[in-house]
Amino acid sequence: MPQLVTLVLSPKEAADAKFYTAQAARRMGIREDQIALARVVKRSIDARQRQVKVNLSLEIYVDREPQPDPVHFDYPSVDGRTEVVIVGSGPAGLFAALHLIELGLKPVILERGRDVSARKRDIAQINRNGAVDPNSNYAFGEGGAGTFSDGKLFTRSKKRGDYNKALQTLVFHGATPEILFEAHPHIGTDKLPRIMQNIRQTILQAGGVFRFESRVTDLELRQGRICGVWCGDERIDGAAVVLATGHSARDIYELLHRRGVRLEAKPFAMGVRIEHPQALIDSIQYHCETRGEYLPAASYSLVSQEGGRGVYSFCMCPGGFIVPAMTDAAQSVVNGMSPSGRTSPFANSGLVTEIRLADFEHLRPEWGELAGLRFQQQFEELARREGGDHQIAPAQRVSDFVAGRASSSLPRTSYIPGITPSRLDRWMPDFIARGLRQGLGTFGRRMRGFVTDEAVVVGVESRTSTPVRIPRDPVTLMHPEIEGLFPAGEGAGYAGGIISAALDGERIAEQVRHYIR
Ligand SMILES: Cc1cc2nc3c(=O)[nH]c(=O)nc-3n(C[C@H](O)[C@H](O)[C@H](O)COP(=O)(O)OP(=O)(O)OC[C@H]3O[C@@H](n4cnc5c(N)ncnc54)[C@H](O)[C@@H]3O)c2cc1C
Repeated sequence: MPQLVTLVLSPKEAADAKFYTAQAARRMGIREDQIALARVVKRSIDARQRQVKVNLSLEIYVDREPQPDPVHFDYPSVDGRTEVVIVGSGPAGLFAALHLIELGLKPVILERGRDVSARKRDIAQINRNGAVDPNSNYAFGEGGAGTFSDGKLFTRSKKRGDYNKALQTLVFHGATPEILFEAHPHIGTDKLPRIMQNIRQTILQAGGVFRFESRVTDLELRQGRICGVWCGDERIDGAAVVLATGHSARDIYELLHRRGVRLEAKPFAMGVRIEHPQALIDSIQYHCETRGEYLPAASYSLVSQEGGRGVYSFCMCPGGFIVPAMTDAAQSVVNGMSPSGRTSPFANSGLVTEIRLADFEHLRPEWGELAGLRFQQQFEELARREGGDHQIAPAQRVSDFVAGRASSSLPRTSYIPGITPSRLDRWMPDFIARGLRQGLGTFGRRMRGFVTDEAVVVGVESRTSTPVRIPRDPVTLMHPEIEGLFPAGEGAGYAGGIISAALDGERIAEQVRHYIR
């Protein structure tokens, strides 16, 4: 049995394997050369004190003790097995597919967008000339919104075993093994596409099917049961259908609404992206002038209640970029990502406030359960107009936003299409602007220097979660009125990030297996 040793070290010591191995040997009362392997199993940074420390947990294997096997998964052949249609190749769809293979069923993945390589070119066009392909963009295409995302792998899931398996699956497909022990694991947008391609290869090698540019346009419903889907005039049958289309597939919500499939409006959150110089966030969080080479770009996580409404930071990207995440050229939508090295000189995060059912009640008579979707769309279209009807995003210095005055100039930004001065505090729905202003006041008191004219708020962060839930039975996970229809992931309202969507996909696969048995 390996022995567990926990050390509290300086960032430099924690980066030096020889140093911490010697420390562990001393702690165990053995010679250093008796240690066959010192394996890091947990690493976290403690920046609460002036001197930043690293907590390092090590598993120590001494001579001749059996060492852990490398991460490995076997995916059996599912050629000729019962076919299950999966709509969408985001984390929910892909992990559902992998687990269906483990359970002996054949996934048939239908993806509206293109493969990762072609998608990269489509995304470059958005940044270069504002051309948004409605089927291939930051949200749509191979790997879903997870591919060109930041790749932070947090989840609030309490089921550690499932979480570890999801991380191991990513490592098996090419992610760095460090994600298995980092307190805040992160992959980075430069590494994610290759991992998504490797997952596709696993699915194809096992006999699964992967079809790109296959947008599902209708459902084949017969007497309360789903038998397949339509992509234009082609019908694709399956013993069950997993609907994992993400929170940006508005046409899917509209299709379900039109076909009388029950949906439920749900609360969500919207606001802005906020961007600071990374060096400023480092100096606040690490209490130093410059962070030095042994510490990663600093992050933050902020939450407050303002007038009974939650205001919080979301998807913080240290050393990252703001990206245009719209799925239609008529919208301005921003999001954030960072490369694995987190090397950009900027730090950004979503800064959002709760949107409640009552906030879009006025749209219910016309839009019914899609009222929140409509409210979200109006917000994005407003931002687009305020940015000047192209992909340049409206923006305001943070200090000006809080003080309620115009910005005559803007600081440098990572947002490639560019930003233009705008009174976000004036044109946003009043309760959103007020909530954000109050929240910034609170955050500025907690993090001295956070409210500054060096930082900028950029409009708008609107796709934090879905405004519509597709209901499902709590036990069978099927839609309560449509047998064989399994809503999955973030778009269905049961996940909020890469890992939670992946875990939901796995859970769905289990229930599909029960259903088909
Ligand atoms: C820029 C950015 C950064 C992010 N950073 C992080 C992060 O660091 N950490 C984190 O946990 N989360 C992050 N997220 C969120 C994360 O990507 C999502 O929560 C996650 O991808 C949701 O997974 P999903 O499978 O439910 O849906 P999605 O990933 O949205 O996948 C849905 C898929 O369905 C396809 N589809 C939609 N409609 C149809 C149709 N009609 N027919 C066929 N296919 C269809 C889409 O093309 C898409 O590929 C980020 C998102 C973005 C955009």
